Amino acid sequence: MKKLKAVLLYKHGGIEALEYTNFSDPEPGRREVLVRLKIAALNRMDLWTRQGWPGIKLEYPHILGADGAGEIVAIGSDVSGWKNGDQVVINSNLGCGICSNCIAGQDNLCQNWHLLGETVRGTYAELVVVPASNVYRIPDGYCEHQAAAAGLVFHTAWHSLITRGNLRAGESVLIVGASGGVNTACIQIAKLAGASVIVVGSDDKKLDLAQSLGADVLIDRSKEENWAKSVFLQTDKRGVDLVVDNVGTTFPMSFRAARKGGRILTVGNTGGAKFEIDNRYIFGKHLSLIGSTMGTRKDFFQVMDLIFAGKLKPIIDRTYPLSQVGNAHQHLADGIQLGKILLEISG
Ligand SMILES: [Zn+2]
Repeated sequence: MKKLKAVLLYKHGGIEALEYTNFSDPEPGRREVLVRLKIAALNRMDLWTRQGWPGIKLEYPHILGADGAGEIVAIGSDVSGWKNGDQVVINSNLGCGICSNCIAGQDNLCQNWHLLGETVRGTYAELVVVPASNVYRIPDGYCEHQAAAAGLVFHTAWHSLITRGNLRAGESVLIVGASGGVNTACIQIAKLAGASVIVVGSDDKKLDLAQSLGADVLIDRSKEENWAKSVFLQTDKRGVDLVVDNVGTTFPMSFRAARKGGRILTVGNTGGAKFEIDNRYIFGKHLSLIGSTMGTRKDFFQVMDLIFAGKLKPIIDRTYPLSQVGNAHQHLADGIQLGKILLEISG
């Protein structure tokens, strides 16, 4: 029976490809739970998946959306520890649970890895089925909007900075970009870890946000084109220990801003996938280039505990009803948002 409200995608395309309509209710299988979603959050990945890329294969109709929070309304067989009515946030990183990497606790390196909303049906819907191991309890009183907004970006930022980047207290961190979800998470995590933070941003509003999150030094790249030099001068001509560069096309500047022996972390390429780099910086400065995507289950639990404790705060730009998903996508594509864009699904 088609009673579930969802945003369906029957083919790749522009905003017009998003169809708010009815769809069949999913049912939880073995080791799965059914979640009635209250809130979903947008990620840039949603735009790319909607538009498609060579080689992507979706089971149509597809449902976008990695992030979500809501309550458990049905439980599959072989699930313990959960009951209907439990409030949960979803970890969108879907490891198979049985391959050697999953067993070793590196489920983000799973040999049969999926990302909710990218390769399997996601959270732009009233109901979603996920493995029971991919939900985490929201404490009583904690806001579901905040929980949904935190999911993917804080998970990604934590894995990159802490697990992969091995960030330590007293280190200096440069964050290229001031307003995106992952970058605003990185600013907060770096400060919580005891690092000093320099942020390069493109306008006053974005830099004000970075400052309110604890950034120590702000550089406006619209006024300081050679921001790598500014970073160099801000660090007594040493360069920073660690650069967070999720733009990609800014790598040449990031290499210059890093100290000798510094680390460059990347989890994305908002500026485009292909660009030239000067290899001499990598070997000449002993740089480490560290890539990652998403994070492990352990990372998710660790960072969500800090979110729930109020030590890290998701930034929310605005919330649209699910039926206005097209406006939400356009707002994200415009790139003027400060923080996460949410979709209110029910309630
Ligand atoms: Zn696996």
